[in-house]
Amino acid sequence: MLSQKMLALGKKSSAIREIFEYSKKRKAEIGEDKVFDFSLGNPSIPAPKCVEDAIKDLLTTCDSIDLHGYTSAQGDMETRRTIANNIGERFGFAADANLIYMTCGAAASLTITLKAIIEEGDEVILLAPYFPEYKVFAENAGAKVKVVACTGEQFSLDLEALGKAVNKNTRAIIVNSPNNPTGAVLSEDDIKGLAELLNKKQAETGRAVTILADEPYRELAYDGVFVPYIPNYYDNTIVCYSYSKSLSIPGERIGYISVSPRAENAADTFAAVCGAGRSMGYVCAPRLLQRVAKECDGAAPDLTAYDKNRKLLYNSLTEMGYSAVYPDGAFYLFVKALEPNAAEFCERAKKYELLLVPSDSFGVEGYVRIAYCVSYEQIERSLPAFKKLIDEYKEN
Ligand code: PLP
Repeated sequence: MLSQKMLALGKKSSAIREIFEYSKKRKAEIGEDKVFDFSLGNPSIPAPKCVEDAIKDLLTTCDSIDLHGYTSAQGDMETRRTIANNIGERFGFAADANLIYMTCGAAASLTITLKAIIEEGDEVILLAPYFPEYKVFAENAGAKVKVVACTGEQFSLDLEALGKAVNKNTRAIIVNSPNNPTGAVLSEDDIKGLAELLNKKQAETGRAVTILADEPYRELAYDGVFVPYIPNYYDNTIVCYSYSKSLSIPGERIGYISVSPRAENAADTFAAVCGAGRSMGYVCAPRLLQRVAKECDGAAPDLTAYDKNRKLLYNSLTEMGYSAVYPDGAFYLFVKALEPNAAEFCERAKKYELLLVPSDSFGVEGYVRIAYCVSYEQIERSLPAFKKLIDEYKEN
């Protein structure tokens, strides 16, 4: 017998992966440059130079037995110390190296953290639109998922709806800013409002509610927009970080969990994180990459190319008549579909070889996500197709 839950999960790939597979097939049929694949959030700018320098340097100067050996389960202490110091310098927050756990990227950071804090039946709040895997991760940890929709053109927090949703069973809320799929960045007022609400709820129910701050896009913010560091505003916070997007190394699988020293039972929470990592076999993240993280943590990616793409796509589509969320961060544009059913809209877009992701798997209806981490030329070439698509709707 097999686990029926896992079998069902394995047989049904994510909507994004399905489109990506279709894209490969279609490109083989009609040519690479004729298909406009906007499905995957795979960084398209090279890793900052410090990554290559660090790898070369480590390979030439380090003892290879040591460099490729195990670290302690929670990670190399020097790396964890560097990360904690950088958090102090960058955000004015006293992180604790002893509460940092090195992971294989944000997916591992989230699954370990959820496993560590969830008891069967606890509720986890997702803010829609949300990264689809959150649901898989939370349910796998035994949680019941509750979805609260964001509000307004820029998808800000709906504190009133959140106030109604948080109850004595609520154990955590996942906050992702800059956001996948909208590109929106939560304002300081939003974060302060959320902190105030959760503190009030905790006082009422006597139960800690943890914010899981999923931050793979922290460094991807444009025009100097301020991205609040949530542990500065709310004590029961666990940051789930990844270098996948900031250093353009998603295939290398490296990130970390940082439990706030101000969190309730911080030491025990970290012990539970270690236990969860152990129980799932997520121990000793890749050693070479831990060393790279030590050298490159906080490195600012050159966002020039993403910013150019962002402006070209947003300005061109809105001029044509599409409406979209103005993205302050990440590399996604969230566009209103031209009919209520986003999946049908994506099918029509396929006629023009435009591969977009319908918003349903992100927990909202009627939008599509366009990942603009592609070449500028792809966006330029795709614009006539977007025009034909909207003209078709205008004609009918
Ligand atoms: N969280 C969000 C919001 C993401 O967009 C992604 C990946 O696209 C992840 C988590 C997973 O990141 P990683 O590749 O570091 O596991």
